[in-house]
Amino acid sequence: MSNKKIGVLSLQGAFIEHMASLQKLGVEALDIRLPRDLETIDGLIIPGGESTVISQLMRSYGLMEIIRDLARDGFPMFGTCAGMILMAKSALDLDIEPIGAMDIKVKRNAFGRQVDSFETSLAIPALGETPFPAVFIRAPIIVETAPGVEILASLPDGTPVAARQGNLLAAAFHPELTPDLRFHSYFLNIVARRAYGH
Ligand code: GLN
Repeated sequence: MSNKKIGVLSLQGAFIEHMASLQKLGVEALDIRLPRDLETIDGLIIPGGESTVISQLMRSYGLMEIIRDLARDGFPMFGTCAGMILMAKSALDLDIEPIGAMDIKVKRNAFGRQVDSFETSLAIPALGETPFPAVFIRAPIIVETAPGVEILASLPDGTPVAARQGNLLAAAFHPELTPDLRFHSYFLNIVARRAYGH
């Protein structure tokens, strides 16, 4: 579908599943573990996992500042679940600083212990008419957005769970755990458009 290369931050969490989704779309997917790995990619996916662990590892590997600078320069990034937490400007209950790329505030583990994980059919107009099978696993929610942040999906009670700000994309759920590749395609379109200078 595209000759762009997408990096998947592969420190901890569901990175293999994101690589598989990208490969199904015919896109070259690269593991990102060290700063130099970022040099050859056109977009970055930050997977779900444990945001505290991923942020600690990002610091140890010298990735935090570089990724923060890339986001500031409009580099396309897609964060899912823990990845969304890491993309946020602020995260309630995260004792470690997130990347702070997107003007959103998130709440971790927002569904409590009783509803640890669930799957729901979510309307995401940006992806077309067919609802998206959204898998939530100890998921965060978005509690605040600044102007300029577009909410792409909300739960029936109005809670925002996916958003876009320029070339930055975030989802509280796990598109890589379903066969529906539309969210990844949407991200690839952002990457492709940036490459053509729009
Ligand atoms: N609960 C995790 C966190 O706070 C996120 C869970 C996930 O990515 N599936 O980091």
